[in-house]
Amino acid sequence: MNPLPTLLDLTRDELVAAAAEHGVSKSAAERLFREVHREGGTGFGKVRGLEGRYVIDPLEVVTRRTSADGSTDKLLYRLGDGELIETVLMRYEADAHRRRRRTVCVSTQAGCAMGCTFCATGQQGFRRHLEAGEIVAQVVAMARIARAEEAQVTNVVFMGMGEPFANYDRTMKAIAILNDGRGLQIGSRHITVSTVGLVPEILRFAREPLATHLAVSLHAADDATRAAILPVNRRYPLADLLAACRQYSALTGRKVFYEYVLLAGTNDSPDQARRLGELLAGTDGHVNLIPVNPTAEGPWRRPPEAGSDAFQAVLRDHGVPSTVRVEKGIDIAAGCGQLRARALP
Ligand code: SAH
Ligand code: SF4
Repeated sequence: MNPLPTLLDLTRDELVAAAAEHGVSKSAAERLFREVHREGGTGFGKVRGLEGRYVIDPLEVVTRRTSADGSTDKLLYRLGDGELIETVLMRYEADAHRRRRRTVCVSTQAGCAMGCTFCATGQQGFRRHLEAGEIVAQVVAMARIARAEEAQVTNVVFMGMGEPFANYDRTMKAIAILNDGRGLQIGSRHITVSTVGLVPEILRFAREPLATHLAVSLHAADDATRAAILPVNRRYPLADLLAACRQYSALTGRKVFYEYVLLAGTNDSPDQARRLGELLAGTDGHVNLIPVNPTAEGPWRRPPEAGSDAFQAVLRDHGVPSTVRVEKGIDIAAGCGQLRARALP
């Protein structure tokens, strides 16, 4: 039996149209949209006619873990058809406006077909695409947790399980719904989509009307090293990928964030730092260096702290800005796909 679709899959206009078909007024439909998105409501309230056609919350909590320092929660959810996905909530200090900020990391697919060797999701293979509503639901659920802490979800990163650009249309629809001023109203500049490097979709993304940020998973500065860890590099080698990124910056005026997972002995040598510096010098980019979060099956290790500092210094010499991002929630396996990997038999 197919589970019911989620109401969160509808844009506000679609909800108004669907409601009209069942005799529900525009104002009642808009109120319902606000209640379920902004206020995290899980019922239909006074709206009659849509019950039995939609579920509101398609996520069933399987496990919830909080890191020892309390900064990070990681949720494992079961979807209507039994598939498992992960969502991460990250807590930050209050900003200048005293807002207690929260970032949500969402999944866009159950599993992933890209097969990156150091990624727990990649090791599990592809299951299916998520619907836009299943992506939105992850943020709505985290906003509910944040609200209970008198905090607010301010940022959303598409860096959980799956490749967002392999599920392009649903990802874009989810972004539009999350951005809706009568819903969660996540500012487009507070949304970052991370791709393993699908060139046609990077070019398409550059022409989207909403000004969201782009992160590209680079992880190596030469084709041989990159192809050995990211099979997608055979389809879209570095020259094509960097050309697309330059075009993205030219069209949007926005910089690209490059993710570079540091794998000891594979891509962390001073020579590789130099090649990365040469590759990115003069482009409008920022590098996030991420010491690998070792997965259960993989042979990967993190370089010593001094190693990432030295790597960063070489980038600086080439005028390429970078940040070493020590991952939050390392003790709760907050790395991509790791919790699901543990939950599987
Ligand atoms: N599929 C997209 C987005 C999800 S992965 C992409 O690959 O960009 C988000 C980020 O987490 C990517 O940069 C990915 O390379 C990184 N990542 C995956 N496994 C990791 C691990 N074990 N340790 C650290 N980062 C990891
Ligand atoms: Fe997929 Fe991203 Fe993991 Fe690669 S790193 S397998 S693209 S989720």
